[in-house]
Amino acid sequence: MIKADKIWLDGKLVAFEDAKVHALTHALHYGMGVFEGIRAYRGADGRPAVFRLREHVQRLFDSAHIVLMEIPYSVEQLEQACVETLKANKLDAGYLRPLAFFGAGALGVGAVNPVQVMVAAWPWGAYLSEEGMKRGIRAKVSSFTRMHVNVNMVRAKISGQYVNSFLATREAALSGFDEAILLDTEGYVAEGAGENIFIVKNGVLQTPPLSSPVLAGITRDTVLRIARDLGIPVREEKFTRDTMYLADELFMTGTAAEVTPVREVDGRRIGKGEPGPVVKKVQETFFRAVRGEEQRYREWLTAY
Ligand code: PMP
Repeated sequence: MIKADKIWLDGKLVAFEDAKVHALTHALHYGMGVFEGIRAYRGADGRPAVFRLREHVQRLFDSAHIVLMEIPYSVEQLEQACVETLKANKLDAGYLRPLAFFGAGALGVGAVNPVQVMVAAWPWGAYLSEEGMKRGIRAKVSSFTRMHVNVNMVRAKISGQYVNSFLATREAALSGFDEAILLDTEGYVAEGAGENIFIVKNGVLQTPPLSSPVLAGITRDTVLRIARDLGIPVREEKFTRDTMYLADELFMTGTAAEVTPVREVDGRRIGKGEPGPVVKKVQETFFRAVRGEEQRYREWLTAY
């Protein structure tokens, strides 16, 4: 179980044991919460910083806007709450989880209950394992499909939408794979259960466009910027499952997953079956950026 000293709940830091909600919390019944995953890193100079804090908190507000939820704090207040939570837990690196949700009150599906907000923080290493980060992971195309854009709101990080990710992740794990890859309703590759996806073919980097049912990942955006700065040609275009099997390189990006190479999909070796030159370069630059070692990406860091 995750353990922390303090959790920020509804405007103040409370002891871990006191961060409780009522059993009739609307979000618990219907998944009506919006959340974020944010990482803080210890810089190369020893100073900790949150990576792309503003963009994450802004996305939380965007998700809330999409589900007609009024967050009773400002962007600045929630940024402050994130930093305070890291400090209160004496974390110089770690994972932050802000969540805004409809609390207790009425229990009709469309009830508009008071909005509660929490922020927790804890240490978290490589999401898809240290070994996966170095050697690449094994993934499986899921039998579950990514939600159609008119079924759910793919631009929002809504708690209930993660039932789809949960089913895909559990299926992949039960089949002996590290992660699931979901196709869209047309059969094109969409994204991982909690990550965006990239292929490299003949030196060109490609990822599904934001018109596909994918989350507008902040790590996706970071990688696109890094690739362009490295002079790697980039295309935001759909691709099929077999194109993915034939890729020279394949990798996934996400706040939790960071930049994780994929060495095998559905029993097909990808490229040479190990991380290739493009993913290695992107991964290296990404980790230099989050640790403040790249001057041009310093604007992404909020030191604390
Ligand atoms: N897709 C899904 C479904 C996710 O849950 C995540 C993780 N937030 C991502 C993509 C990657 O987004 P980000 O890089 O902003 O963490």
